[in-house]
Amino acid sequence: MKGMRRMLLHHQGPIERLDLSEAAAEDSPPGTGEVRLKIRACGVCHTDLHIAEGDLPAHRLPVVLGHQIVGVVDAVGADVANLKRGDRAGVGWLYDACGACAACLRGEENLCPGAQFTGYDADGGYAEAVTVAAAFTYPIPSRFDDAEAAPLLCAGIIGYRSLRRAEVQRGERIGLYGFGASAHLALQAAAHWGCAVAVATRGPAHRDLARRLGAAWIGGVDEPPPWPLDRAIVFAPSGEAVRRALEAVRPGGTVAINAIHLDALPELPYRILYGERTLRSVTNFTRRDALEFLGLAAAIPMRVEFELFPLAAAREALVRMKRRELRAAAVLAP
Ligand SMILES: [Zn+2]
Ligand SMILES: [Zn+2]
Repeated sequence: MKGMRRMLLHHQGPIERLDLSEAAAEDSPPGTGEVRLKIRACGVCHTDLHIAEGDLPAHRLPVVLGHQIVGVVDAVGADVANLKRGDRAGVGWLYDACGACAACLRGEENLCPGAQFTGYDADGGYAEAVTVAAAFTYPIPSRFDDAEAAPLLCAGIIGYRSLRRAEVQRGERIGLYGFGASAHLALQAAAHWGCAVAVATRGPAHRDLARRLGAAWIGGVDEPPPWPLDRAIVFAPSGEAVRRALEAVRPGGTVAINAIHLDALPELPYRILYGERTLRSVTNFTRRDALEFLGLAAAIPMRVEFELFPLAAAREALVRMKRRELRAAAVLAP
């Protein structure tokens, strides 16, 4: 593609002064095992904000952010069997994993020390085209259009892994701390499993969305839910929310932290962990998570709440995310 447009992040820094500028580039042809996607939609994720602002150290600069990509294959490299020109495919945060290390062999490619991440180690989806490994793409269920499918590819998959990491069982009482792109999809999965879901969030728009999606209780992070929780997932990048979640789960319950960046955990009185409560993190996801989740999302079928921005407004979308002005997800469309 000649003169492909893409948004380049040149430097890390506060979002207000962010240098996220449009640049034309020649897109190179896909190599062995790779395909080039003409991008139809790309979701905006909190991780993009963490990379832009430097909460996560840059792996390379300049870089094209974006790791919730829906596109159509327009060029196919050698040795690609699973995709052909014209196929629709999705790409998430996991750009590549080595396949040979102890973690990969255990089926934990999300923990592969050699893993590469889309829009971080490799150029991502704030662009008109992207080249990716065919083995790390996912078929998009036909019931989702391009823009509504984009937030499924990180917000959705990582929310699903969080439910799994929290060991959510059918019919349990679940707490979601913080509510946005990921939690609004996780709520629908938990409700589908017959769980009662308590949502702790401040924003009126988030509360309204949680109510419409069937939350059984909605309150503030500092308010105890009306019943003890079996499991809780913390979506807000807040150590205080982790403490509140741990206080709200019953003995034997589990709290999973869905955050790639968290400044610090507050001092935790041992009594809130005692009683065999479990506190764990959620790190990246595996291809298996992605395929399981996309099947579940189509079967429910999930409702995806998003706001659409033109590619050139990527910075504005990140600013609105930082200010918590987005009701759920943001999606860029070239
Ligand atoms: Zn590996
Ligand atoms: Zn993400």
